[in-house]
Amino acid sequence: MSLSVIIVPCLIDNYAYLIRCEETGHTAVIDVPDAYPILNMINELGWKLNSILITHHHSDHVDGVEQLQKLTGANVIGAKSDSHRLPNLNISVSTGDVISIGNQQAEILNTPGHTIGHISYFFKDSKKVFTGDSLMSLGCGRLFEGTHKMMWNTLKLFMKLPKETLVYSGHEYSYSNAKFALSVDSSNTRLKEYYKEIQDLLKDNKYTVPTSLELEFAINPFLRSALPEFKLGLDMCQKTDHEVFQYLRILKDNF
Ligand code: ZN
Ligand code: FE
Repeated sequence: MSLSVIIVPCLIDNYAYLIRCEETGHTAVIDVPDAYPILNMINELGWKLNSILITHHHSDHVDGVEQLQKLTGANVIGAKSDSHRLPNLNISVSTGDVISIGNQQAEILNTPGHTIGHISYFFKDSKKVFTGDSLMSLGCGRLFEGTHKMMWNTLKLFMKLPKETLVYSGHEYSYSNAKFALSVDSSNTRLKEYYKEIQDLLKDNKYTVPTSLELEFAINPFLRSALPEFKLGLDMCQKTDHEVFQYLRILKDNF
């Protein structure tokens, strides 16, 4: 029983993800920055699109939804709490709901911070999570609407998932995120190695997504906010996890 994923780069640095239940052929896409790259890929593969899953309301994630829906007849799924500012939804979902793509089930995770109504899709059996602009490779989304506390709670929620979980985020930001990570965690050997890997991947026109939670625990400074040795490196031993996260997020905003 497996869920296959095809990465579809869109716009300048966005990613959409085509996913398919191998048993039933049910197919969905996570976010639609632009309808055409997705349509082209579906046609090339000879697939039929059943569902469109939206992570959040920003235009670089939903601009192509209406057109793709019109051309494929797919069901549009998104957060109930944000339905007033999302494209028309056929199915609106809330935290804890489970949706099916063929035989594959995804749990809806409430992951606010970048925006208030941001959700992520966690496929438990295949251990894949689609995180939009919440948890990102080596980083996390900017706080446009939520508070630091909200995003920290969101990151803690991801930290509870199995560590083998693959993380599919909404943008190719790994290189700039890695530069920031190095600026606050310069003695991290695994980070230094991965920084080189990212550069090699990008040089070969390859994607740096997905990453794994296990890797993110080791190199993503925002997820490391709670670690004593990481706090020590920042001279913030007395600070709470959330204060360290807030300090890093503000530092990154001005990096
Ligand atoms: Zn966004
Ligand atoms: Fe975005």
